[in-house]
Amino acid sequence: MRPFNTRIHHALAARTEQGLYRQRSPLSRLDNGRVARQQPYVNFSSNDYLGLAQSPALITAWQEGLSRYGAGSGASPLVTGYHAPHLELEAQLADWLGFDRALLFNSGFSANQALLFTLLEKGDVLLQDKLNHASLMEAGMLSEATMRRFAHNNPTALARLLAQASRRMDSDSDAKPNTLVVTEGVFSMDGDVAPLAELHRVAMPQALLAVDDAHGCGVLGEQGRGSCAAAGIKPDILIVTFGKAFGLQGAAILCDHAIAEYLIQFARHYIYSTAMPPAQAYALSRACRLIQQEEWRREVLRDLGGLLKDTLDPAIPLVDTTTPIKPLVLGESQRALSYADALREQGFWVSAIRPPTVPQHTARLRITLTAAHQPDDVKQLAVAINEVFYRE
Ligand code: PMP
Repeated sequence: MRPFNTRIHHALAARTEQGLYRQRSPLSRLDNGRVARQQPYVNFSSNDYLGLAQSPALITAWQEGLSRYGAGSGASPLVTGYHAPHLELEAQLADWLGFDRALLFNSGFSANQALLFTLLEKGDVLLQDKLNHASLMEAGMLSEATMRRFAHNNPTALARLLAQASRRMDSDSDAKPNTLVVTEGVFSMDGDVAPLAELHRVAMPQALLAVDDAHGCGVLGEQGRGSCAAAGIKPDILIVTFGKAFGLQGAAILCDHAIAEYLIQFARHYIYSTAMPPAQAYALSRACRLIQQEEWRREVLRDLGGLLKDTLDPAIPLVDTTTPIKPLVLGESQRALSYADALREQGFWVSAIRPPTVPQHTARLRITLTAAHQPDDVKQLAVAINEVFYRE
C-alpha cells in the first residue's frame, strides 16, 4: 500500500457517505452576470458584486498593463518583483482608505495568514469572531498565541474575553502579552455586518483591532470605502481583497508605517512569494478608480436587493441583509442541494453551501447579487424560488 493511501481513501469515502462530497464545475463566464456549462445560467453565486470582472474598462486596463509591463513580475517583492504599478496601487489604496500604508498580497488567504503568523507570538492573545473566515481561524490555531472565539457579532462577549485576558496579564508580571481582535466587516456566508463601532470601542485601547473587509470594500460606505468607513471607525489594520468587488484577484493589508515595515521584514508569505504581475496591479488601480467613481453600481445592488425581497413569498426565510449576500438557510445539506438542482433546471446557478463551510444544520443557498444582473433576472429567480418552496 502506498503511503497515505488508506487515509485518503477513508476521508473521501466519509465525505461521500456524509453527502458532503464537493465537485467543481468547469464554467465559462459570460457578460451580464451569466455563466455557461453547455447552456447559459444566470449566476447568483459570484462575488463579483459590482460586475467589474467582465467590464470592458477593466479588461482594457489589464491589456494595457500587459503591453506596458509584460506578463509576470519575475520575482518576489524584496528581490526584483516590486514595480511602479505596485507602488502606485499601494499609494492609491492608502489614500482612498485613509491609512499610512498598504501592502499587496497574492490572495486574501495569504494576507490573513501573513498578518496573524507574523504579528502573534507565544503568550499573545487572539480574539476572533466565531464565524471568521477559514484563513483567519486556521492561522490563529496554528499560531503560538492563545486563541479564543467570541460569540458572533457580540461586543459583550468580546468585552468578557478582554477582561479575562487582562486579569491573566496582571497575574503574570513577567509576560507582556499583546492582544489582537479580529472580525470580518461583512460575514461571507451570512451577509450580515459586524457591529464595528461597538467592537472598536470595546477593543480600544487594550487591543489592536483588525477587520477583514473582503466583502464590504467596494460595496459599502461612501465611495465604496467599506464597512469600517460606513460605521465611522478606523481599525488598526484593514484587510481588503480584490477577488470580490474589485473583479480581479489579490489582497492588501492597510496599516501604519511600523506594522507595514514589520510585515515587509518578517512576513514569510510576503517575502517568499512572487509579487503579483505588475499588469494586475495596474488593472487594480483602474478598478479602484471605477469603484470610487461609479456609484451607480452600488445603487443597482441596493435596488436589486429590494426587488428580491419584494418578489419572494414572505414565508420564505431569506435573510434580509443590507449587503449583496442573501442567504436562504435551509437546514440539511440534502435540502440545499435539491433547491440548487431545481433552480439550475430553471436556468439559475445558485450554489448550495454546506458544512463544514457553515455550521451543521445550516446548509444554505448563498444568493449573491451583482450590479451586472438585470431586474428581470432577480424577479425570475424569486419566482422560481417561490415555486420550489411550495412544491416541496
Ligand atoms: N477573507 C474573507 C472574509 C473571505 O471571504 C475570503 C474568500 N472568500 C478571503 C478572506 C480569502 O480571500 P482570497 O479569495 O483572495 O484568498
